[in-house]
Formats: sequence, C-alpha cells, structure tokens
Amino acid sequence: MSDRPTVTIDGQQVPVDDCIWLERHPCGCVASAAVAYVPDTWTLTTAEQAARHFAPTDRERRRALAAGLTVEAITGGRYRDQFQARWFCDNHTRPAHA
Ligand SMILES: [Zn+2]
Repeated sequence: MSDRPTVTIDGQQVPVDDCIWLERHPCGCVASAAVAYVPDTWTLTTAEQAARHFAPTDRERRRALAAGLTVEAITGGRYRDQFQARWFCDNHTRPAHA
C-alpha cells in the first residue's frame, strides 16, 4: 500500500490525485473548482485547506464567508459526469455570479 494522501468523500478514502474541490454558492452554483493535488505545488486534503486555497487572504476569506460559500470534495469521475460542463444550478443556468 502506498502512503499517498487521501481525501474523505462520503466516508470513503479517495486518493488525493482523484479529487476535485468545489467552492459553491448556497444555491448550488459552483464558484470555483480546483484539483486537490498538483505535484510539487499543492495538496489539499481537508476542507480547511481547500477554503484557504480558494480564499488565501483574510479579506477574501471574509468575503467567501459573507457570501455563504462552502467547499466540498468530489471524485474526479463525479466532476466529469456532473459538473464539468455545468457549473450553474437550475436557477442560474446563465452566469449570474460572474
Ligand atoms: Zn445558482
């Protein structure tokens, strides 16, 4: 077994290089997405690390909290199936948050 880091998704340990972090608006729209692992650059295994990645400064962090943004890890497969072509919820199929 390798000691590759994992991310917990729905109670399962998923290898970090098969994970995508989403930053989402309360309505469900995706605000940002990031791969959890970029060699020699970043490794995001917890929601806290992902939130810091999306909003590195305190000012950005406050704005994200005020907007109610949340972070969520999903598998690469689910991202490709469900989100890659569709970041917006049913109420915002046109970019309302741009
Ligand atoms: Zn929306």
